[in-house]
Amino acid sequence: MQTIKISNMEANNIIRKCVHCGFCLATCPTYQLLGNELDSPRGRIYLIKSVLENHHFSKQSIVHLDRCLTCKSCETTCPSGVEYVQLVNIGRKLVEQKRPFWQKVYRYFVRQFLTTPILFNPIGLIFRHSQIKGKSIKPIIKIGTVLLLGGCVQPILAPNINHSI
Ligand code: SF4
Ligand code: SF4
Repeated sequence: MQTIKISNMEANNIIRKCVHCGFCLATCPTYQLLGNELDSPRGRIYLIKSVLENHHFSKQSIVHLDRCLTCKSCETTCPSGVEYVQLVNIGRKLVEQKRPFWQKVYRYFVRQFLTTPILFNPIGLIFRHSQIKGKSIKPIIKIGTVLLLGGCVQPILAPNINHSI
């Protein structure tokens, strides 16, 4: 209960920074693609505000929050410094409690399937859309240490991305 109260206060502080200018819409890929205000940062902020103030949200609100890529692109253009991703994470926790049970089960199995190589690799190989060309990229000069994420589905579906031509 205490955690929820702190999250609500954090969310409230973030929401209050938003001046509804809409600058973020220009850099949001989901808004650019779908053209729906509710698939923009400003629209999602409105949805989360509505959840916090009126406990009102529909199944469609969950869809709009799910569609956010959490890419932070909107934060780079926001003149008010709205910490949007922090807010959307709080919003997602709130709506998660209301997600239909079948969706929770479905999402659990998709996550397990994509991140378990023994399950995903045989199927992924069927849908592979690029072939390995050239050699694996290997560092020649060691200047520093870089952390590269291996990925879960990409090495099987598009292995050429990690290879030099
Ligand atoms: S750019 Fe920032 S202040 Fe303007 S609408 Fe988007 S989140 Fe709100
Ligand atoms: S984090 Fe979400 S709202 Fe922000 S630009 Fe990316 S997709 Fe759009």
